[in-house]
Amino acid sequence: MIKTDVVIIGGGPCGLAAACGVEKSGAKCVILERDERLGGILNQCIHNGFGLHVFNEELTGPEYAHRWIDKVNECKNVKYYLNSFVYMIECTPNGYLVSAYNDEDLIEVEAKAVILALGCREKPAGSVQLLGTRPSGIFTAGCAQKLINIEGKSVGKRVVILGSGDIGLIMARRLTCEGATVLGIYEIMPQSGGLARNITQCVKDFNIPLNLSTTVTRVEGDKRLTGVYVAPVDQKLQPVAELEKFIPCDTLLLSVGLLPEIEIANDFQLEFNPTTNSYCVDEYFQTSKTGLFCAGNVLHVNDLVDNVSREGQHAGECAGLYALGKLPTAEKVEITFDDHIKYTAPKYIYKTGAGEVQVSFRVNKNYRRTIIRAISGGVEISRRPAPVVTAGEMQTVTIDKSKIQEDLHFEIQVLE
Ligand SMILES: Cc1cc2nc3c(=O)[nH]c(=O)nc-3n(C[C@H](O)[C@H](O)[C@H](O)COP(=O)(O)OP(=O)(O)OC[C@H]3O[C@@H](n4cnc5c(N)ncnc54)[C@H](O)[C@@H]3O)c2cc1C
Repeated sequence: MIKTDVVIIGGGPCGLAAACGVEKSGAKCVILERDERLGGILNQCIHNGFGLHVFNEELTGPEYAHRWIDKVNECKNVKYYLNSFVYMIECTPNGYLVSAYNDEDLIEVEAKAVILALGCREKPAGSVQLLGTRPSGIFTAGCAQKLINIEGKSVGKRVVILGSGDIGLIMARRLTCEGATVLGIYEIMPQSGGLARNITQCVKDFNIPLNLSTTVTRVEGDKRLTGVYVAPVDQKLQPVAELEKFIPCDTLLLSVGLLPEIEIANDFQLEFNPTTNSYCVDEYFQTSKTGLFCAGNVLHVNDLVDNVSREGQHAGECAGLYALGKLPTAEKVEITFDDHIKYTAPKYIYKTGAGEVQVSFRVNKNYRRTIIRAISGGVEISRRPAPVVTAGEMQTVTIDKSKIQEDLHFEIQVLE
């Protein structure tokens, strides 16, 4: 059995930054990664757009991952095991026991703290009401990305994309560059769930039609997909049958959302947030169980990897301090928010007095001319004008902790 201070499950950008955070705290850690290489989802994201905030450079996904892999390799107290699929976390008198399959062996790591950095998975075809046959040619966007970018395989020639999340938008451009015709992106909501820059650079610049308030209702085909039916939706998001039309195509990509990989910790019955489909955390990224931390995409789906690295590094430092018995605790303040905001991460702040804390959140739809306000004890303690806030982009506000009284409330004042 391996003994260490912190076990990090997942060696993607969150796990890598978390390891650097543990190193900074002075503690030791082990990363367990199921894949044959570190880097997580970034290994298949060969487009650029990563690292603008952390490195002030526009890097590709693998380049960004490698910056962090180099940092991890420089750490003296970090070990990692690849091809190691974690299947169980148990409590022990000393903390936690994490078990993983490594090739044909079993690895057991005992530690005082665990960081969940498992990322998320794509919602499959079964999660959307897709009527019709089940031919080949229907892929999740990330699966198609892996086939094209890692395995060098083509997925199809005439493509329809359902959902306009960032992966779908990025794949629309990628497929076009590969010589396929992207016939259209169909999004059931009145706005895209993707970043504004992806809508411009991946869709508008390539003249790909983005159809809002429209969905794919049925698929057709025997062995291979031969076409899909699309229809606009009414205000209740129900397809208008009379306006349904057929689009001949051989490929349908699904970009209909991501689900955090939380199941590994189900037995702990942690405080859960149905909005994020994941756990609630405090400002240390600690769940409702002490010593069990959670950050990155397994906590909430991030739009920018830079935020993931920031969260991971902070979670790692806090988990390391926890393992060394140096993590300060105090009375908790629960963050509340108005109807424009869907959730905040973290959910709780400690009244430890000094320092700053960063609070991230998403809004429920797009707004123009807004002011993001934080209020505590009836006093405005943070105010930031935001000309545009969109559902696809995460907002982050830095709060001076010395100003926090008994409560902390966030609100969006919409001026237009
Ligand atoms: C297709 C796509 C395009 C993107 N484009 C951009 C972009 O242009 N710019 C940008 O800033 N961000 C982008 N992002 C977002 C960014 O890549 C993610 O936010 C980031 O990768 C999340 O990091 P993570 O470490 O939380 O998760 P991941 O990168 O998913 O890493 C999780 C790791 O955990 C491992 N793991 C999971 N389960 C287990 C287990 N049971 N045992 C052991 N290991 C396990 C996985 O193998 C994986 O390596 C994109 C994301 C996707 C999916």
